[in-house]
Amino acid sequence: MNEEFTDLLDKHNLKKTSPRLSVLSILKSRDVATSQPELEQIIGKEVDRVTLYRTLTTFEEKGIIHKVLDLNGTSNYALSSSTISNNQLHDEHVHFNCTVCLNVYCLDQLHIPKLSMPQGFSSQNVNVIVYGICYSCNKKAEEFLKKKDNA
Ligand SMILES: [Zn+2]
Ligand SMILES: [Zn+2]
Repeated sequence: MNEEFTDLLDKHNLKKTSPRLSVLSILKSRDVATSQPELEQIIGKEVDRVTLYRTLTTFEEKGIIHKVLDLNGTSNYALSSSTISNNQLHDEHVHFNCTVCLNVYCLDQLHIPKLSMPQGFSSQNVNVIVYGICYSCNKKAEEFLKKKDNA
């Protein structure tokens, strides 16, 4: 069992169940945010859909993970930066949604600047999503063009 995750569940007063530990280790192993259907595929029959849904909801409420909507309106989940690094500040980061592969990336190194609200407005959270082409799709395009040049 991964100590990092059992400690994390302890900290949030959550029972150390195997679905919870599986979800955490899957989300940590991926460099892109993961949708519930993708999680279902990776976990397999070991965890039923309702349990998975409840696990994600609990984690989101506790701030252990965060949700990002992609171009299709699908929810994608990723570990919160504070879950990985104990740094609360990094949690307001920019997201990137690739228009080719549709993957959602957490750009932890890009922080969302403080926005000053007009009088009478109070902000609760800010979402910034950049749409474009990710490094891996850019690389594929480059390789494709190189091959074409050599042909
Ligand atoms: Zn891409
Ligand atoms: Zn993120």
